[in-house]
Amino acid sequence: MAVALVVAAGRGERLGSRGPKALASVAGRPMLEWSLLALRSVAAIETIVVALPADRLDAAPADVTAVAGGDTRSESVRAALDAAPRSEVVIVHDAARALVTAELFAAAIAELELTGADAVVAAAPVTDTIKQVSEGGRIVELTLDRSRLWAVQTPQVFRRAALGRALAAPPELLAAATDDAWLIERQGGTVAVLPAPAENFKITTPLDLRVAELLLGERAGR
Ligand code: C5P
Repeated sequence: MAVALVVAAGRGERLGSRGPKALASVAGRPMLEWSLLALRSVAAIETIVVALPADRLDAAPADVTAVAGGDTRSESVRAALDAAPRSEVVIVHDAARALVTAELFAAAIAELELTGADAVVAAAPVTDTIKQVSEGGRIVELTLDRSRLWAVQTPQVFRRAALGRALAAPPELLAAATDDAWLIERQGGTVAVLPAPAENFKITTPLDLRVAELLLGERAGR
């Protein structure tokens, strides 16, 4: 069996919403609720823990465990893991990816078993050409080989022991981590990518919110 940790404690400054981003309304529901809807229909998931801003724990529905998130994303993941019951498999998901589906969660769990990896991350092959520029500047230093680049998303699915070890990293490393899989990679663990639909984008900007509104509106009308 598996537990799911949903991180929803970010402020969402790039979105410009007044309250926490995960609670902003998208197609008639709080953004967080869309991910919970998908998670609830995955049979392998027995418990859902949600990390929320400390002053908004009231926003959690009754069927999930709510915890106060931390100052960084990784600290929010760690707080949620600490509150989760023991289980072999742990799913980490950003509430900002409201277009996730139950099928993607189930596929990621299945892939962990199939590959024997320490973690499986949803990802999409990069379609733009990616260039690295000088630090703080705009001078191109090198062009990366696009055929080997994947843009990493959530869900990210972990063996619990590996995730627990990864999150025991010192605070400065936790603060630098933009995803949990990186912490596993640093420890020499194996991380596999699982191709995910382009629809699973992260709602970051007002433009993303408009696109999500449209797509989730269609889903709600189905
Ligand atoms: O800031 P970013 O878009 O990378 O955040 C990804 C996810 O992590 C969001 O769902 C956000 O709510 C969550 N987060 C969190 N605690 C933080 C920062 C971000 O739960 N301190």
